[in-house]
Formats: sequence, C-alpha cells, structure tokens
Amino acid sequence: MKPRYSLEGRTALITGASSGIGAHLAALFGAAGARVLLGARRKDRTEEEAGKIRAAGGEALAVELDVTDEGSVIAAYDAAEKAFGTVDTIVANAGISRDGRSTDVSAGDMQAVVDTNFSGVYLTAREGARRLIAAGSRESGAGRIVLLGSITSFANHNGDATYAAMKAAVAHLGRNLAREWVRMGINVNTVHPGYIETELNADFYKTEGGEAHIRSFHRRRLTAVEALDDPILFFASDASAMVTGSELIVDDGQRL
Ligand code: NDP
Repeated sequence: MKPRYSLEGRTALITGASSGIGAHLAALFGAAGARVLLGARRKDRTEEEAGKIRAAGGEALAVELDVTDEGSVIAAYDAAEKAFGTVDTIVANAGISRDGRSTDVSAGDMQAVVDTNFSGVYLTAREGARRLIAAGSRESGAGRIVLLGSITSFANHNGDATYAAMKAAVAHLGRNLAREWVRMGINVNTVHPGYIETELNADFYKTEGGEAHIRSFHRRRLTAVEALDDPILFFASDASAMVTGSELIVDDGQRL
C-alpha cells in the first residue's frame, strides 16, 4: 500500500534502525520516497535493512552510529551528508531499557539509560539542527525532527523508573527545542507509542507477567507497530509545516 504522506525529496536519518520500530520506520520512509540513513551500532543489521529497502526500489544507506558518543553522531551525519546531502528529516528513535526495581538497578545500567534515551536524543537533534540551519532551513522551512517518547513519560511504569523519567525528559526537551528552533525552519514533535512488541520487551511478553500485562490493557492487546506509520510520516513530511512543539499519543488507549 502507498504510504499516506510522501517523503519524496527528503533525506531522513533514523536512529536505532537496526531493529524494532526504527527498522520498521526505515522501510516505511523508503517506500514513502525518502533517501534513508539507517543509524545504529549493529551495522550488520542496518546493512541488511538498507538492502531490503534498496531491493524494494528505495534509496538507503547504513551508517555506524552510537548516539551516546558525540564523535560518532558527528561522523554519522558526515557520512550521511556525503552520500545524500543535508539530512532534513530526523527520527530520534534509538533507546534501551534496563528493567528492574530501582533498589536493584546498578548505577551503570541507570547511566546507560540516561546516556542513550536522553543524551542520545539531544546529541542527535542538536547535530541535525546545526547542519540544517547552516544549509538554510530558516528559508526553506524543511527541517523535521521527530522524537520517540513513550506513554511511560506520563503513565506509571512498573519496571524501569529511569526509562520513564528520561522519556518525560525527552518530551520536555522536544517542547524546548521546538521553541528554540521555531524561527529556524525546524519543527520538533514527539510521538508517544504504547507498548509494542519488539526486541526491547519480547522476552518479557513471553512470560506470565507479560501476558498479565497485556490482559491489563483495556483492549487486551499490544499496540501494532503500524499504528505509528501515519502519525510519524505526517510529522516527517511537508504536511506538518505548521505543527511544532506538539505531542501525539499512539497507544490504543493503553494508558487510560
Ligand atoms: P529495539 O530494542 O527493537 O530497538 C532499539 C534500537 O535502538 C536498536 O536499533 C538499537 O540498535 C538502537 N540503539 C540502542 N542503543 C543505541 C546507541 N547507543 N546508539 C545507536 N542506536 C542505539 O526497541 P524498540 O524498537 O521497541 O524501541 C525504539 C524506540 O521506541 C525506543 O526509544 C523505545 O524507548 C521507544 N518505545 C518503544 C516502545 C515499545 O513498546 N517497544 C513503546 C514506547 C516507546 P543497536 O543495538 O544496533 O545500536
């Protein structure tokens, strides 16, 4: 099926594109006509996903990226620019979770979640905005940055308190970056997905606790990853020219 919004002419970087939501979005963006940069640490996986996009007739390139490392973020944008020109569409999707009670979680695991889920988003958005502004986004109005939040940023989350806190921080970062760049032609919006089965949580959903979690949702089901397609394409496309600093919850009513 043809994607609802066109990304023709856009160059998009998706972080965390080696699996789950990011890999899904990369394929979607490719089908919508974007030149897609797939960033993650596991280059073998992003190469594979990029190959699938090219086989389907799209344009895609895997770039090595560790969002916790400023030098790696800069190098990924350099590689992207060399291949496809200025990145005008950014999806800050890379994220990790370290489940456990706060009394048990190690300081190292806590810090890894902060570094990936908050600093990684900040560094990705900042480097993208620097280059967009230098390339004239103020005049073109072409900049689109989509941040991946989570319903855990405002609903109680029994499992990884740092994850939930960093997702709340990402949403507030999005509002502030939107304000900072409102005259620079860069729109920043946040999408809050509900629980979707991916590598992040697949082990949990195989357990009795996981099944009980699904039964606790009003509709007794996980959110389908495809539910994100139209909202994220919209925020990434020209159609959202006048939408910035906003948030959209896509959770099948799980948080209610
Ligand atoms: P996955 O575990 O399937 O994917 C996470 C991705 O992040 C991987 O591609 C991983 O790639 C990448 N990643 C992790 N650390 C880094 C890093 N340091 N640098 C670059 N990339 C990194 O999980 P999901 O697809 O479920 O998660 C994607 C996003 O969606 C996350 O931000 C998550 O918090 C959010 N989300 C997920 C929900 C869900 O229920 N699944 C619900 C709400 C939000 P690699 O290891 O190769 O680097």
